[in-house]
Amino acid sequence: QILHEFLDLKGNIRVFCRIRPITAGENFGHLRPVLASNSNEVVLKLMDNKTKSYNFDQVFHPGSSQDQVFTEVEPIIKSVIDGYNACIFAYGQTGTGKTFTMEGSADTPGIVPRAIEALFKQAVDCNHAFLISFSMLEIYMGNLKDLLVPKPIKATDPMPPCLSIQADPKGEIVIGNLVAIEVNDCNQALRLYRLGCRLRTTASTNSNLTSSRSHCMIRVAMTCFDAAERRRETNKLWLIDLGGSERVLKTKASGKRLDEGKAINLSLSALGDVINSLQRKRHHIPYRNSKLTQVLKDSLGDDSKTIMLVHVSPKEEDLCETICSLNFATRVK
Ligand code: ADP
Ligand code: MG
Repeated sequence: QILHEFLDLKGNIRVFCRIRPITAGENFGHLRPVLASNSNEVVLKLMDNKTKSYNFDQVFHPGSSQDQVFTEVEPIIKSVIDGYNACIFAYGQTGTGKTFTMEGSADTPGIVPRAIEALFKQAVDCNHAFLISFSMLEIYMGNLKDLLVPKPIKATDPMPPCLSIQADPKGEIVIGNLVAIEVNDCNQALRLYRLGCRLRTTASTNSNLTSSRSHCMIRVAMTCFDAAERRRETNKLWLIDLGGSERVLKTKASGKRLDEGKAINLSLSALGDVINSLQRKRHHIPYRNSKLTQVLKDSLGDDSKTIMLVHVSPKEEDLCETICSLNFATRVK
């Protein structure tokens, strides 16, 4: 009981910061490290030897491994089995390592494959009958797209049905027409995940640009049954690689790029507003301001756990965006 109260005091949202390492192709000559960190603090080195520091539940410095990151994330997977909904967000400017953290690479898998594996392992260990389903979607310019349904090949083929957001009488969010595939083991889920990732990148001509302009959302839904095989509630784990947070109005973007950027910026600030209102226990939570927060309405708030992983660049030229990202992080704390 005392332990529970202690844990409750710590709140339902954890904010982590991950600093990307300098990668091989980057020119060291123009780079001045603008960040220093210890395990709970990021210190920004500004001009005139001024500094500004930001505190987090955990800071991952450039040398941190995927293992170290997952160790801090893993307790939230356990809470899904304990009856919570959970969201893990990767936030940050394009190029700061969001996809690296979530997806990872073949030899350094990220949070998504590790979380799926951990969820299955814990579900099997907990001795209850359970059912797990996997879904994957993308939000691009305010439109929802199922990432498990391929685009029609011929122009005459029927388009896949549009996804819609509805709430059932209990307030649970239902995404109409979203494919949810029942998976019996971790490998089935991982295969679907790889399929979704492939559809996400092949659907566009310039994959890197478009993927940085959309939110990629994975939903793993787990239904537990009690001893009498009666259905208990369904809990959801959301794993979300958010669109790049760079502010388009400051760049010279125009036309479509500008519209995409505006859509991303709007939905990211709507997300910040929702989490901020929840943290301050406001009466009105502004879920309706974006598709992103509408989809997550029943997975953010009471009975939910959230991890916000804010990614920043170590480079001097990115200092402005780094400050913006750290300010966002502070707002949702
Ligand atoms: P984002 O998804 O935020 O746009 P990416 O994940 O694509 O950024 O990362 C940009 C580049 O930096 C990629 O080549 C990626 O492999 C590399 N990278 C990012 N974070 C790390 C890290 N922690 N360790 C090693 N390489 C990284
Ligand atoms: Mg990315």
